[in-house]
Amino acid sequence: MIKMKLALFALVAVLCATLVSGCSNTPYKNEVSPVYYANNLTATELALHEGNMQKVIDYYLNGPTGAKSFFSALIVDAVTNEEICYGYNQGGKSMIYHGEIQAIMNCTTITGRNSWSGTYLYTTGESCPMCQAAIMWSGFDKVIYGSSIKTLYCENCMTQIALDSNVVNGQGFGLVQANNQTAWKPVQIIGGILSNITDTKVFRNYCNSTTSIFKATPYCNADFVGYNNTCAGTNSTCPPCENNATCPPCENAASFNANTMSFVLISFLAAIVIFA
Ligand SMILES: [Zn+2]
Repeated sequence: MIKMKLALFALVAVLCATLVSGCSNTPYKNEVSPVYYANNLTATELALHEGNMQKVIDYYLNGPTGAKSFFSALIVDAVTNEEICYGYNQGGKSMIYHGEIQAIMNCTTITGRNSWSGTYLYTTGESCPMCQAAIMWSGFDKVIYGSSIKTLYCENCMTQIALDSNVVNGQGFGLVQANNQTAWKPVQIIGGILSNITDTKVFRNYCNSTTSIFKATPYCNADFVGYNNTCAGTNSTCPPCENNATCPPCENAASFNANTMSFVLISFLAAIVIFA
């Protein structure tokens, strides 16, 4: 009898697996775009990016009157490192006038270009989904940021859309032709450059503010300790990837497959029914 039940259970499990995993839960392929950190760069490249990030920080700290916005951006030529233009957040005029958008529009006005391959974009804060999409459409070679969305939103209680830029960047394979590529080459994202300065001297912490328009109430997972990690306590010997000198470029942990979840649940229910 038990053998028969086991066989029945196996049959139901296989049927469930076939039914459930037969369909994708999204029409699009899911690709992962890595984030490179200082420990992934050569000393020469790190010095280049730190030098340019310092220029953006100085632009914020010492910019002309009215140009002071902690979200500031700079576009440079990838070969000559010539500064092409700056931009800064002007959310007072329009909520979509973010630093990166402003820099791209300023550079477009100055040069008339509509494609930005061969250039790098530096931004004090990680790009929001809107700006990351603009960076992808514009075809930048690299985007380099200081403070992460994770830090700004989860730790500094600052208004943000809770989505890492590399998640958006991973879905850019539909832009191959638009970006004059023969095969998909995602914008390279380099994170955390001079974040020791941007985290503390550029951006502020709004967690205790009752009046700031930048205040947000974080809706974050308290047990998250870093990318390429599991929950704190279960893998505590592995430090967060961003700070791990020996780890490869960080990728977001694969999202839990909804099909797998359904299969597990249905199988579990089937087991209860059969063995009851
Ligand atoms: Zn933005």
